[in-house]
Amino acid sequence: MERPITKDRTYSVEIGKVKVEVPLDANSCLLCANPLQTIAVGACDHRVICYICMLRLRWILKKNACPLCKVPLETLFVVNTLDAKYEDLMKNKSSLVQDSSDPNVYYEDEVACDRMRKLRGYYCLWEGCGKNLYDQKALDGHLRSAHNRVLCEVCFKNRPVFMGEQLVFPSHKLQEHMKYG
Ligand SMILES: [Zn+2]
Ligand SMILES: [Zn+2]
Ligand SMILES: [Zn+2]
Ligand SMILES: [Zn+2]
Repeated sequence: MERPITKDRTYSVEIGKVKVEVPLDANSCLLCANPLQTIAVGACDHRVICYICMLRLRWILKKNACPLCKVPLETLFVVNTLDAKYEDLMKNKSSLVQDSSDPNVYYEDEVACDRMRKLRGYYCLWEGCGKNLYDQKALDGHLRSAHNRVLCEVCFKNRPVFMGEQLVFPSHKLQEHMKYG
């Protein structure tokens, strides 16, 4: 049940507990407002969500419906072509890069695939370091010993973001952060 797309219409999208009215012809991601460069397209052909937001919803929040029309999106294509059509992508599936842990996610190129792998993995979060630590314990230890930085446990458990989007704090500022956010 697709609603007609007209430029003067706005749609309300629920982001967490907040309802936001957004114009449909927006050139920015409906969820994070970053300019749309690489998007994830599914069966409903809505091309208004960036791939990072779409895959965050799918993998972290376990919601695989389109945030706009609520159609379940079994297969997703991560593409740089903003007018790519789901039907055409479906036909070309075999020439695309398949995600290593979700076989229903395909990438048009290696760049987005690699970025996703880094966001999901345990790479050092401190600026410019990027060392692969393979698990959370090793990452914790490395952050402390190499950079005198720590992950906030509360944020880590409760913020629905990728590992690579977690925040790190200088050790002595953690208490301040816990108190005031
Ligand atoms: Zn986004
Ligand atoms: Zn949709
Ligand atoms: Zn590091
Ligand atoms: Zn925190």
